[in-house]
Amino acid sequence: MARRKKIYEGKAKILYEGPEPGTIVQYFKDDATAFNAEKRDVIDGKGALNNRLSEFFMVGLNSIGVPTHFMKRLNMREQLVRACEIIPLEVIVRNYAAGTMAKRLGIEEGTPMPRPVVEYCYKDDKLGDPLVTEEHIAAFGWASQQDMEDILSLALRVNDFMSGLMYGVGIKLVDFKIEIGRVYDGDYQRLIVADEISPDSCRLWDIESGRKLDKDVFRRDLGDLADAYTEVARRLGVMPANATPMEKPKLIN
Ligand code: 5GP
Repeated sequence: MARRKKIYEGKAKILYEGPEPGTIVQYFKDDATAFNAEKRDVIDGKGALNNRLSEFFMVGLNSIGVPTHFMKRLNMREQLVRACEIIPLEVIVRNYAAGTMAKRLGIEEGTPMPRPVVEYCYKDDKLGDPLVTEEHIAAFGWASQQDMEDILSLALRVNDFMSGLMYGVGIKLVDFKIEIGRVYDGDYQRLIVADEISPDSCRLWDIESGRKLDKDVFRRDLGDLADAYTEVARRLGVMPANATPMEKPKLIN
């Protein structure tokens, strides 16, 4: 059996060269990390849940005309995605105060924002993904003015889609992070939603009880992370209600 070429290994995913030029296989690991990998654990089933949930969100976005890198799911842990140049920014959209913004600005967690607040962080683990302004982004050439307009529009469209989807199943979309990739179609370049959208990269609170259904369960030791993600998947109809824990496939590498 031919050995696949590993392109990149991050904290939660591994990227392998895809079967066709311009494609990549994205493998979702069970590893959970927080606080820039100072806290880590292996959560059985997390990779499979995030693979399914990210597929569900990206397919939905594609179907309403928000372009994403998602092509197809290959198996329980892997999906085929379009290769793209990742813009080195984490694009964060906040509907309610939480996490680092609540702390930084002294706002109580859960306070609704008067309008969605978009923040940019420079993707650099060694620096702890620092918050940057559009001035930094322009000055250091990470993205052009036109890119920034397109990124903002993509981020707000993702926010509307995800907020509505979650509201429909009794969940509040507090905030989320996306990453944006650049692809070339002939002479033209386009920006697309890349990486993943999952409870690892969103804050999701149950509307009735306030129960957290996202990675804060792990960050703040609030219970079983796989249970929380399974609840999100169950409500969205992504997993059958009585799904049994998935068996871990062997990594061929
Ligand atoms: P905060 O800045 O409050 O830590 O995070 C804001 C939102 O972006 C949260 O939903 C959080 O999960 C997401 N986020 C921020 N940084 C990262 C990151 O490095 N990885 C992932 N998966 N999500 C992030």
